[in-house]
Amino acid sequence: MNQYILPDLPYDYGALEPHISGRIMELHHDKHHRNYVRSANEATEGLAEARCQKNAHRIGRLAQALAFNLSGHILHSIFWRNLSKNGGGAPKGLFADAIGRDFGSFEDFKSQFTQTASGIMGSGWAALVWDSVGKNLSIMPIHDHQSQTTQGAAPIMVLDVWEHAYYLQYQTEKTRYFEAVWNIWNWEDIGTRFEHVQTLDLRWTKPSGRRTHPERLHAGV
Ligand code: MN
Repeated sequence: MNQYILPDLPYDYGALEPHISGRIMELHHDKHHRNYVRSANEATEGLAEARCQKNAHRIGRLAQALAFNLSGHILHSIFWRNLSKNGGGAPKGLFADAIGRDFGSFEDFKSQFTQTASGIMGSGWAALVWDSVGKNLSIMPIHDHQSQTTQGAAPIMVLDVWEHAYYLQYQTEKTRYFEAVWNIWNWEDIGTRFEHVQTLDLRWTKPSGRRTHPERLHAGV
């Protein structure tokens, strides 16, 4: 069975200071993220067992635990690489063009992304996603790690808005955390992710553009 693995940070714990403290990075990566990975692996193992036992109730419960913990693992893995001590400034190239097309301007995008982060009630994330059906960029709030997300939307830039991401340093002034991260966004990483997700295709029509027969869709074929 495949095991989920905690990825190393691509930099030292203190690399993002003064914007995110080394102590936060250490706890966040080595405790919080590690727990999500461990729990995702436990849920996967439990699911295999529950399937053997044909225990539908346990399968349902573990599937929810897997959704939460695996989503946490995935979002944190993206988040670490979205940040860099050499980051900040503005994106370039095709990605910058798409930002302008879908949000008006980089400044508009910045304020919409920050507003989304500020609007999170409880724990969650602000995410820049590629809507693979509409073929456009979109900003969405994610509650916990996985709730109220749009299917088929691939996250390329994510901001952790859980208290564990900032409280040790910023306490109740989370707005200062939201401002600080604009000094460390790694646009090279985010731009590369943008290019990769362009190939995502969830079309339910055939590549030729012909529609699948509706009766086949209803029959679940
Ligand atoms: Mn976190």
